[in-house]
Amino acid sequence: MHQLKILPSSIPSNVAVRERHILALSPCCPVSKNPRPGSFIVISYPNKGYVLDVTPLYVYIHQFVGGLYDDSGELVVRDMEGMVARIAQDCATALGVPVRVIAQLVIAPKQEMCVREEYRECRKVNCRFCCRVDGSRIRGHGPYFKAWHMQNGKKITFYLGLNLQAGLARRMHTANHPVSEICSTLGISRSTFYRYLREKR
Ligand SMILES: [Zn+2]
Repeated sequence: MHQLKILPSSIPSNVAVRERHILALSPCCPVSKNPRPGSFIVISYPNKGYVLDVTPLYVYIHQFVGGLYDDSGELVVRDMEGMVARIAQDCATALGVPVRVIAQLVIAPKQEMCVREEYRECRKVNCRFCCRVDGSRIRGHGPYFKAWHMQNGKKITFYLGLNLQAGLARRMHTANHPVSEICSTLGISRSTFYRYLREKR
């Protein structure tokens, strides 16, 4: 597995700036081939003295194509939800600061949505999620998950639950997409689809 690498920032850590990386996303799901071309991810975090090294970051993101396998060859990430969550977690761990990841996902056919995963800092002294004993910062609380899509220029936020795939399946069902189309779009079986419908509500 390719790991993320960090570099000392050229900007002093007492200067409040947010670093931002924008990268194209390739299909990660081997079955549905989602997300489709045109999808991208924005990784942002406060500058606390370190930044992600861009070349290893590119290699790291690229390894999700067709699913992410661990060193023993086991498939560990096979869907978009897993990919976005894993990227947020790995970046937060590598940098030691709260990271926000926003993925703009194009999902066939003609579905577009945005997924955000983020870590947050609280203001409590000695919080074990936010700082170490020596006072240095760590990644904070999270991840917090949110999704939305744009409709007639308006941002519509919707609750998808923790399972993005299930949330999408229910949304497409509500929007009267045929079951066969939902299953092929998301790369799920009919029984999985009906299980998703039963689980919520
Ligand atoms: Zn905290």
